[in-house]
Amino acid sequence: MHFKHDVVIVGAGLAGLRAAIEVAGNADVALISKVYPTRSHSGAAQGGIAAALGNEEPDSWEWHMYDTVKGGDYLTDQHVAEILAKDAPRAVYELEHMGVPFNRTAEGKIAQRAFGGHTRDFGQAAVKRACYAADRSGRVMMDTLYFEAVRKGIRIYPEFQMLDLVMKDGAAVGLIALEIATGEVHFFHCRILLLATGGFGKVYKTTSNAFASTGDGVACAYRNGILLEDMEFVQFHPTGLYGLGVLISEAARGEGGVLRNAAGERFMERYAPTIKDLAPRDMVSRAIFTEIREGRGIDGRDYVHLDLTHLGESKLKEKLSDISSFIKIYLGLDPAKDLVPTQPTCHYMMGGIPVTVDGRVLGAGERIVPGLYAAGECSCISLHGANRLGCNSLLDLVVFGRRAGIAMAENVRELPWIDPPDSPERKVRAGIEGLLGRSPGGGKVARLRGAMQQAMTAHCSVFRDEGSLAEGLSLIRSLREEYAGIGIDNQGKRFNSDLLEALELEGLLDIAEAIAVCALARRESRGAHSREDYPERDDARWLKHTLVLKTANGPEVSYKPVTITRFEPKPRAY
Ligand SMILES: Cc1cc2nc3c(=O)[nH]c(=O)nc-3n(C[C@H](O)[C@H](O)[C@H](O)COP(=O)(O)OP(=O)(O)OC[C@H]3O[C@@H](n4cnc5c(N)ncnc54)[C@H](O)[C@@H]3O)c2cc1C
Repeated sequence: MHFKHDVVIVGAGLAGLRAAIEVAGNADVALISKVYPTRSHSGAAQGGIAAALGNEEPDSWEWHMYDTVKGGDYLTDQHVAEILAKDAPRAVYELEHMGVPFNRTAEGKIAQRAFGGHTRDFGQAAVKRACYAADRSGRVMMDTLYFEAVRKGIRIYPEFQMLDLVMKDGAAVGLIALEIATGEVHFFHCRILLLATGGFGKVYKTTSNAFASTGDGVACAYRNGILLEDMEFVQFHPTGLYGLGVLISEAARGEGGVLRNAAGERFMERYAPTIKDLAPRDMVSRAIFTEIREGRGIDGRDYVHLDLTHLGESKLKEKLSDISSFIKIYLGLDPAKDLVPTQPTCHYMMGGIPVTVDGRVLGAGERIVPGLYAAGECSCISLHGANRLGCNSLLDLVVFGRRAGIAMAENVRELPWIDPPDSPERKVRAGIEGLLGRSPGGGKVARLRGAMQQAMTAHCSVFRDEGSLAEGLSLIRSLREEYAGIGIDNQGKRFNSDLLEALELEGLLDIAEAIAVCALARRESRGAHSREDYPERDDARWLKHTLVLKTANGPEVSYKPVTITRFEPKPRAY
């Protein structure tokens, strides 16, 4: 079928929902989501949303801006960090007014807690800046915004999976989506398309991300000649449950938890003497791997302990109840009595589709791609730089999701309807028929995906170097060759997850290649990109954003400058 809406938003996480709510009323809006909307990964966010409200301790937006820039190891575009930090209090009060049930202080104000890299007086000490609802912050925000979207009458297409964009003469005119329940392929025609498809942690073996975090929007954009930015910057969260990667929020350390090595030593005191366990994630993850390499992992193995035993049962129950139950369910341990085995887990992508502060996608030569917007984790607004601070993502989603919504509401009036190309779904249909025609697949999709995740984890993780990256890249390339002849087992039309996973894998392989190529090119260490062969940050040569374009000869890398307004780059110590 062909559907037609002024604005089509792909992704019903917090970015997509916040944008949709803003544009509804000004245009006919449709929201497409491959998972049932409220199951989007935003609902798994635990720790909170940052804003310098100063409810518990003195705070200021300038300190928040500074922390964001320093946390990003100065790769952050500073005018973007300024918008974020200044708009944060308004955004949090807006959520409160919509009905988000934040925790409260004794006087009834929104309660706040400490989080990694958030400081007062420009780095003097940790500050309580994260607003939260126990450890279910994302869940309550999702439920509130979803209710708001339904109330505004937004047309929702649940369990529709976008498979490709439809472009004409460099402008976005729509997309192709598969209706998962029926297997039908549909064309959505629109004046504006917003991609809000979330992250792509599924490129790695151990990740905190949901099964659906396969970077489809990023892969579709890349395949259609859109540049990607800063792809080498992949965040590993220090505390994933050992062997599983399930997230134990930084809120655990914000509430007083500490990391310990085999000797029981609180080792972060050596790496970040001022804010210790509340250092930014890139530093804590490196510290954990350094402890492990130097033989201080627990029992000589590849994990350390998170110690929550001193927090007491009532705090664990009141503020960290979900993660306490994860620890019980997955590891059979009681955080009030037992030390928790943890290990870094792939968590967040700083890179993605480059956009302006109003969500407009930037193509080659910094030219705006007509009709195409992006918001949330799939976008790269150059806000998080080389390393995102905890609680700044939820904030990014609502601040910049709203801004994209405002811009779309204005822009939709000016943009003409562009006739789509003939049979826009032809290419996608042919691809699907090819995959089905080559069945049975013998489980090859799962094998290739596993090999890709293994290769990325082994060669493109927290520590990197030339030889290992090159090896990882050649492994990914050979997997891509194998993918070309792939078949699948399930021939059915309804809920054919074999087919959808095969299609997702094609995009994941492209993304994996882009990450490895950009990581190989950047010969310095900055934020989450830590090159053992180039251990220093090198501002003279590398204070610039990476761009990567998919070409017939493989990914082509170029660079663009970083915007510096208030804070000159300085050595980064905590
Ligand atoms: C476990 C966990 C805890 C976190 N905790 C915090 C926290 O406390 N604070 C914080 O600031 N950040 C946190 N983060 C990060 C933050 O939650 C994410 O960056 C953010 O939620 C991403 O939101 P999004 O709207 O961009 O996408 P998501 O919420 O990931 O949603 C993506 C949407 O896109 C849809 N989609 C994807 N592909 C397709 C397709 N092909 N077709 C149709 N639809 C598609 C999905 O169905 C979904 O609706 C956490 C992340 C994780 C994984």
